[in-house]
Amino acid sequence: MTDGCRLVMLGRQGAGKGTQCVRVARHFDVPHISTGDMLRAAVRAGSEVGLRAKGFMDRGELLPDEVIIEVVDEQLTGSESTRGGFVLDGFPRTVAQAEALDKIVAPLGGLDVVIDLDVPVSVVLERLASRRVCEKCGANYSVAEPPTNPWVCDACGGDVVQRDDDTPVAIRRRLDLYEQETAPLVAWYAERDLLETVDGLGDADDVSERIIAVIDARRSKR
Ligand SMILES: [Zn+2]
Repeated sequence: MTDGCRLVMLGRQGAGKGTQCVRVARHFDVPHISTGDMLRAAVRAGSEVGLRAKGFMDRGELLPDEVIIEVVDEQLTGSESTRGGFVLDGFPRTVAQAEALDKIVAPLGGLDVVIDLDVPVSVVLERLASRRVCEKCGANYSVAEPPTNPWVCDACGGDVVQRDDDTPVAIRRRLDLYEQETAPLVAWYAERDLLETVDGLGDADDVSERIIAVIDARRSKR
């Protein structure tokens, strides 16, 4: 019987972070919480901060840090579902957000570990550049795993295309931005002895096993 974990997952786009978050959350029976999910939940609940967040989103504006932090606080401390822990995905993105998260989770016992899912840039570049998507329903394919009929969606018959923002130049720009944004965050967690870098290459099952082993080792030291 596992008794939850409080985890932050970092990793560049194309590292398989979303997939691994789902698997690890299922293993430890805790919710996988992305920033987008939290924002939607807050808006749905109609809380005060949810309504403020909705205002920014409706106007197409970026959410200020303090609003995101308040949403995270409300979702993590105000909800029964996160009692046993959580897998946080997409938050924090900055040191300021990490400091705020630190305060939010302190009463819960703090974070167990921050996983940096490491896949080399050259590999994610290739993965992302080979990505193809259905224009109509959003189903994902790749050059290596195309739909049955070349570039006709198996699910809906729509056109399967390469997204404009999946060109090598655009991908490289996003990865560079992520690196700039995340490097201080990674250093901040390393200084606090919370960071574990996990090799994200290979079979998804093997990667999950590696992550779970790292979390188990940390939890046993609690
Ligand atoms: Zn489709």
